[in-house]
Parts: sequence; structure tokens; C-alpha cells
Amino acid sequence: MTAGLSPAPPLGTAGALTREAVEYWLRETDEARLEALWAAADETRRRCVGGAVHLRGLIEVSNYCVRGCTYCGIRAANRSVERYRLSAGVVLDCARKAEQFGYGTLVMQSGEDYGIERDWMADVLRRIRRETSISAITLSLGERPDEDLAAWREAGADRYLLRFETSDEKLYRRIHPDLPGKVSDRMAILRRLQALGYEAGTGIMVGIPGQTHASIADDIDLFRGMDMDMIGIGPYLPHPATPLGQEFEQRLAGREWPPDQAPNSELMTCKVVALTRLARPDANLPATTALSLANKAGGRAHGLQRGANVVMPNLTPLKEREQYEIYPEKAAVHETAEAINESIMTLLASLGRTVGTGAGGRGS
Ligand code: SAM
Repeated sequence: MTAGLSPAPPLGTAGALTREAVEYWLRETDEARLEALWAAADETRRRCVGGAVHLRGLIEVSNYCVRGCTYCGIRAANRSVERYRLSAGVVLDCARKAEQFGYGTLVMQSGEDYGIERDWMADVLRRIRRETSISAITLSLGERPDEDLAAWREAGADRYLLRFETSDEKLYRRIHPDLPGKVSDRMAILRRLQALGYEAGTGIMVGIPGQTHASIADDIDLFRGMDMDMIGIGPYLPHPATPLGQEFEQRLAGREWPPDQAPNSELMTCKVVALTRLARPDANLPATTALSLANKAGGRAHGLQRGANVVMPNLTPLKEREQYEIYPEKAAVHETAEAINESIMTLLASLGRTVGTGAGGRGS
């Protein structure tokens, strides 16, 4: 039980959780008491977005990146990464595979790679639209200029994902350095995406060194006020070839955590997913790959039982997927798209959940 905060605050009314209650649940570690949080999140998910799980086929288009994010394995300074950029033909093959598996939608993700040129991506988007029955396309290509975002919307992109990572401004600046002469303002880009007619998605990592329980409560407050269509929440997974990964290992060895440090555990991540479901009942919340890696046996199932309604099965060809190592041992890195598809279908059947059809946007 959590010291000094008993009894547990009521969970009856979705969205009505007080700030104190959110912090209480973020600090709660008693499995029996947490059952009430899981049940409330699951009931809200069922009532507000239903039993269908939307499958968004993930294509990791390029691992080139200009940025120096201290948490990310594909940061520019990591010279041990073999860089790749998929050809348009391979992206189209992946899209056809998504079609064949019955996934309604695609997500194209990459490092912030200006080798992905505006016109090239616009052309790929048009070809996917023309040559497949994919009903919605999400992009997650980093902090690109307005002109690129507008051209891609025009060419057929429907959604854009850009996590704000943490609402703690000081921590964000430390882990996500600006590019020379360009201050990173992801909130402003999210607003511009909405103005361009995109469905916008954001999210955070959980358990970044220096991230407190109170700061995660701030993140959830922000989600409540932001009107996002999708919110991705995953544990921070330390990558040994990054400055933050090395700091994490040192802190772990010396047990030197800052006061109120939030753990990067599966349990902590599930609490954030569940509380986010209560704060934003109709948002699309993925059971993230990072969550499935924090507990290989049950992470994805727990996510889906504690508020999530989206899964993003990986379609990237194996050789390139191994090089898209944003964190070590990315889940199912050695499994083919067919094997991943089969295990997700088996999981959904075992949970009594159906596969979503169509675009699977918010409220559809
Ligand atoms: N470049 C785009 C961007 O920054 O939005 C999209 C790709 S980026 C690799 C996608 C997400 O991966 C980031 O928003 C971050 O939350 C997550 N990520 C990167 N490194 C991670 C790590 N070590 N542990 C957990 N998540 C990580």
C-alpha cells in the first residue's frame, strides 16, 4: 500500500480523477489494489471505443537521423548503426502485405531523415492510395517543416505521430537537444498538424532518468487538455550505446535515483496507460512494442486489458528491422511479419477481442 494515501480514491467517473488521485495511483504498487484501476480502465475502454483492436502495420522507412536524442539508439552520433532507407518498391510491398493481413491502416516511421525528400514521400503516399485498399496512413517522421507536412497531407497522409516525450521542460531539453538554430517545439507542431487536417497523436516514455511520478501526473493532465486522437505510452528502455542509457546503468549500479523517480517498469507503464484511458476515454491507445518488451510474456496482453485498443504489428523486412534499433532487443526482431501477425491474432482471440476494420480513427 502507498504510504499516507489510504483509502484509494474512487475511480467511478471517467475523466473526473483529481490530480491527487492520479498521483496516488501512479505510486500505488499493491497488485490487489491496482485491480480496481485495471477494471475501471478496461470498462471505460469497452464502453467508449469497444472490443475491436485496430491493427496498424508499421513500416520503419529509414534509420537515418539528424538528431542527437540521448535516449535513442539511432541517434546521429551512434556510428555503430548500419544506416538504411527503404526503396519505394519495398514500402509498397510492405503495404501490400498489410492489405493481405487485413490491416486497415499503415504507420510509416523513421528517424528525422531529410534524405526522405518531400516529393519522394508524397509520391509513395499517392502510390499506396492508388495501388492498395489501405484506408488510412499515419506518418511519424519527426519535426519536419510545415511545407513537408502540408504536401504529405495533400498526397494522402491522414495522421501524424509526434510524442512530446515528457512535459518536464528541463528534462525534455536535456534528452532531446535542439538542432542548431532551431528550437524543438513539439506542442506547436502538433497544433499545426491539427490545423492542416491531420489526426494528431502524441505520447511519452515512462521511467526516463529524472522523470518523477509528479511529472507523469503532469503528462496525464496535458493529455486531458490536448484533444489528441492517439496517445502512445511506452517504457523508456535504456540503450547501452546512448548517453542516457549509460547514465541509467550508472544510476542502477550505484542506486542513485533522483527523489520521486518513476520506474521504467511494465507495471508503471500500465498504470499510465490505464489513467490515460480514464482521462481520454475515446483516444486510440496502443499496447506499444516497448511495453511488450518490458514483459515479453504478458506486456502486450496487459496493455490491451488495461486500457489499450491498438497494436502496431511490424512489417519492416527483417534485415532493416534489425538496424532500426531504437532500444535493444526490439520485440520480435527475428520474427517475420507473418509470424508476428499470427501471434497477434492468437493473442486477440485468447482475450476475446476482435480485429478492427476500416480506418479505425477516433470514434469510428
Ligand atoms: N523520429 C521520429 C520522432 O522522433 O518522433 C519517430 C521515430 S522515434 C524513434 C519514435 C519514438 O521512439 C520516440 O518518440 C520515442 O518515444 C521512442 N523511443 C526512442 N528511443 C527509445 C528508448 N530508448 N526507449 C523507449 N522508447 C524510445
